Amino acid sequence: MDYYKVHNNVLTFTSVERSANLTIYNLSSYLILIDAGGRIADMKKWRKEVEKIFEKKIKKVILTHFHSDHTNSLPVFVDCEIIASNQLVDNLKQVNRKTQDEHILALPDTAFDESLLIKEEKTELLIKHTGGHTSGSSYIYCPNYKVINVGDNFFANSYTWGGAKGADPESWILALKEYLSLEVDHIIPGHGPVCGKPELEKWLKYIIEVKEVILREIKKEKIKDDVLEEADRVIYDVPTQPFSKKSTLVSWYNHWKKQNLSS
Ligand SMILES: [Zn+2]
Repeated sequence: MDYYKVHNNVLTFTSVERSANLTIYNLSSYLILIDAGGRIADMKKWRKEVEKIFEKKIKKVILTHFHSDHTNSLPVFVDCEIIASNQLVDNLKQVNRKTQDEHILALPDTAFDESLLIKEEKTELLIKHTGGHTSGSSYIYCPNYKVINVGDNFFANSYTWGGAKGADPESWILALKEYLSLEVDHIIPGHGPVCGKPELEKWLKYIIEVKEVILREIKKEKIKDDVLEEADRVIYDVPTQPFSKKSTLVSWYNHWKKQNLSS
């Protein structure tokens, strides 16, 4: 199996087809999985192999947000405790995803408003709701190994998509600042390779710069297309899908325009 060893007890699987990154925390008596993956048939097989490697069962699944590449395979984990923010539970209910074939639709069984701490012997995992990429987005921080899972609030080595419904660039900026304030050596993004703080700092700097440009151009009473053209010029040097960038900038423009009108 293809994985990246963040630490002896933390493995990230970045190449399961149609799935976002999957992370296993190996605790003394069980495994915790971060995000449930995309395609059910693949995840069934994957789960078997992972549980064989560790000779332990996955007992808890923590979700970073509701998008299907992170939650579509929840039916594979119905026997586990599924943990997510209350906002994520609402997001899932709203999309009202249909079950496939014989699978049972699984929803989180443990939900929290702001944060939740999981402790097993000496290992701690802090789950905290921030919003950003989606209104229900949360991060998972393990101080023991100085690791953080940030879900799709960051894609490493590609342009992070910010055009989803419920994306909020203000909460997003605060979330990124919070990650950077923590003692962290390894950042596990929702997509792309495990990285460190410099990559995340670059992304934060980009969002702040785009915000400044958008607010400046709105103040000059420029029309939407002209504001977007200026925002498009802000440099963020990673492989970029034009659609992803365009829909992100439109979403952020709409957010700051609305904020500007109401202030
Ligand atoms: Zn994703």
